[in-house]
Amino acid sequence: MRSDCWATRNPPHEHIPSCQAARPRYSPRPRGAAAISIAAFALAGCVGASMAAALDTSAPEPTKVEGEALAPPPPALANPTGHEVRGEDVYGAGAFGASRGGGLRRHRGADYIAEPGEIVRAPIPGIVQRIGFAYRGDERYRYVELSDAVAQRAVRVLYVGPLVEVGAVVRAGDPIGRAQDLSVRYPRGITNHVHVELKQRGVLGDPASLLPAPADDDANLSHARSTI
Ligand SMILES: [Zn+2]
Repeated sequence: MRSDCWATRNPPHEHIPSCQAARPRYSPRPRGAAAISIAAFALAGCVGASMAAALDTSAPEPTKVEGEALAPPPPALANPTGHEVRGEDVYGAGAFGASRGGGLRRHRGADYIAEPGEIVRAPIPGIVQRIGFAYRGDERYRYVELSDAVAQRAVRVLYVGPLVEVGAVVRAGDPIGRAQDLSVRYPRGITNHVHVELKQRGVLGDPASLLPAPADDDANLSHARSTI
């Protein structure tokens, strides 16, 4: 979904039968000329009907709306990449709570598989609270932090080249940046991903228990996870 589609979306257009599509809807037409030619137009099917309707003020304008369904409301939450959570690779697994540092630490977020350069979307609605560096002393990798005061949630999405600025208001699913290439820092075969940390009322939680499952079934990405 484009980020501006709700702000600029036109109302559903009135259905205009194809035989009337070329008729100027609001241009004045000469009543005399139209009356003279109405018998001829009557033989021409819907064109004649159209002209007759234009002359008869009691005839209702066609108001039938069909063909275009109303767009669904924006999602309350979104999968940031549309892909699965990273499985096990040589650097570890992407699930929340997975082992890190040989068991000394736990993974504080969930890693969503991402192709470097692809659009990363806001998992929650909110305000861009902060943009920072994922690692101290390494300015290659960035994060975008969003906060939703109403739901008392905050997420930090790491390894994202920002496309938003601090203070921007975003809806879930809006683009916030592009996925960065982690293979530069982790050259031994990491599965590229964005790391999502979620806090609910200040407490870390599992993003995958809250955010929607992948929206696509991209076989290459789904199977990029190693089973080692
Ligand atoms: Zn991670």
